[in-house]
Amino acid sequence: MSVSSPDPPHGLQLVIDFVNTRDLELGTDELETPAGLLGWLRDRGVGGVSAGDLEGPLREAQRVRAVALREALRAALLAHSGGGPDAKALAELEGVAERGRLSVRFHPDGTVDVAPRAPGFAGSLARLLVPISAAAADGTWGRVKACRADDCRWAFYDHSRNRSGRWCDMAVCGNRTKVRTYRAKDR
Ligand SMILES: [Zn+2]
Repeated sequence: MSVSSPDPPHGLQLVIDFVNTRDLELGTDELETPAGLLGWLRDRGVGGVSAGDLEGPLREAQRVRAVALREALRAALLAHSGGGPDAKALAELEGVAERGRLSVRFHPDGTVDVAPRAPGFAGSLARLLVPISAAAADGTWGRVKACRADDCRWAFYDHSRNRSGRWCDMAVCGNRTKVRTYRAKDR
């Protein structure tokens, strides 16, 4: 990723970072244990109704839920970079939103936002989807993509003017893929 690129809008970096808790290339996973997951969510201030209402320790079943959400998000991002739609992944995302009771809220000062109404863990997972609702409205959600390289799948924001990005970093994954395609043709 280019260091000079501006931050993605609508807090989408949270979604990108969540997907990138698993690094396929290094074989690391920040969500490998329930404690790792809890630490990650707390570091990011991701509670349900409020940042402070996420109580630990988390259970293995909850970790499995978080990983299912992460991989469903990755599938959705892969669709943005030219992969096909994944109905199962989309159903998973909707389930997380429903369980977290993601709702439109109208505040006395006239502002409107989308936030989870479920406290605790269900709300925390749903909160990870909040940036997407705003990004979907102005089309920037389609710019959040997963790298097409099989051994990478890194999430990134496509800053390119024509939204044609397929790889996390053309200099690395793009060229790598091109070299592979060339070799395959050569054979
Ligand atoms: Zn890549």
